[in-house]
Amino acid sequence: MPNREKVTPIDEAILERLNRGILLRTGAYKTDDHIVLRSGRHTSEYVAKALVTTEPTFTEGLGGIIADRFSRFPVDLVLTTGYGAGLLGHCVARAHPGRPRFIFATKEKTGTKRTEVSLVPEYRAFFAEGGRVLIVEDIVTTGETVRELIKLVESMGGQVVGIGAIWQRSTRMKFKYPCFTVVARDVPTFAPDECPMCRQGIPVTRTLEGGPADEESDD
Ligand SMILES: [Zn+2]
Repeated sequence: MPNREKVTPIDEAILERLNRGILLRTGAYKTDDHIVLRSGRHTSEYVAKALVTTEPTFTEGLGGIIADRFSRFPVDLVLTTGYGAGLLGHCVARAHPGRPRFIFATKEKTGTKRTEVSLVPEYRAFFAEGGRVLIVEDIVTTGETVRELIKLVESMGGQVVGIGAIWQRSTRMKFKYPCFTVVARDVPTFAPDECPMCRQGIPVTRTLEGGPADEESDD
């Protein structure tokens, strides 16, 4: 992970606000929603995952931010899974000075609804040439996909350099490798009886309890 100690907290805070501004401009970041989270708590902030990568210039900008954060680290492979993460991962690989290859894993839900990821044989061969891997995700919701990608890299004898993503829905989520998110912010959440939107009589616009079919349930 790049040396964050040299960056003062205020710089980090300003940078984070600028980064959040880019996400806002993509139209993916909703700040006036009224959502019931799986925990039962309410929030007004939401990232519409499908909209994050619809504007190529912004996707390149977001990819550049992630690549920059890992620019001093040798990276042989950028690994993603999922369509949006793939678009972003391509941009990260393009912007990284180490000119890593970009590869993606296929993702499947098992009968027990667990996420499983796998690589096509053509990609497996790349690990013999250099297995330093930067994992890229768009929105990390539960962390399950990231953990599966980590296991995949380890099973291939590779080394995870870090994880780069747009946003983790909860910054309390921890991985065993450095994780950088473009937006480092826990959305404010409220118990239903303390929710300011409920008090104003604003109707609930989304309820995130749909299970795996729900786009937000699966990162
Ligand atoms: Zn509410």
